[in-house]
Amino acid sequence: MLAIDLAALAASGVKALLLDIDNTLLPLDQSGLSPEIASWIASLPDAGLGAYLVSNNWHGHIHARADEIGLPVIAKAAKPLPFGFRAAARALGVSTRECAVVGDQVFTDILGGRLAGATTVLVCPLSSTDLPHTLVLRRIERVIMAGRRPTS
Ligand SMILES: [Mg+2]
Repeated sequence: MLAIDLAALAASGVKALLLDIDNTLLPLDQSGLSPEIASWIASLPDAGLGAYLVSNNWHGHIHARADEIGLPVIAKAAKPLPFGFRAAARALGVSTRECAVVGDQVFTDILGGRLAGATTVLVCPLSSTDLPHTLVLRRIERVIMAGRRPTS
């Protein structure tokens, strides 16, 4: 994820990032926000990019995780449905076409981002820990990715 070319995204017309939390910004193995990702988030305004968290997580602790990251959050977003992305874009004052969705899952983040008309960036999951229902989707991801690698 640190390899994402923020300047190139901004130059292509992207004004904001809609970011997944679990295993995109924070690992699911409880190890917390890394200093590298914290400084990456802090650099977004300098790159001319707004940011909003869009998470399918429905547990109460997702708000504590958003506070740790320091960005506002749409929780229970029901990705791949586009409503959470649309609400976040609206809160940022941009259209979803001016957003890039960044996430670690094809069937929630990337499919949802495409349905919302956004640019999409698939990143490597931060940990190999996944929720049980995600493990099922991971198997299908491996088939459709056919050996291609996400952005690291
Ligand atoms: Mg995720």
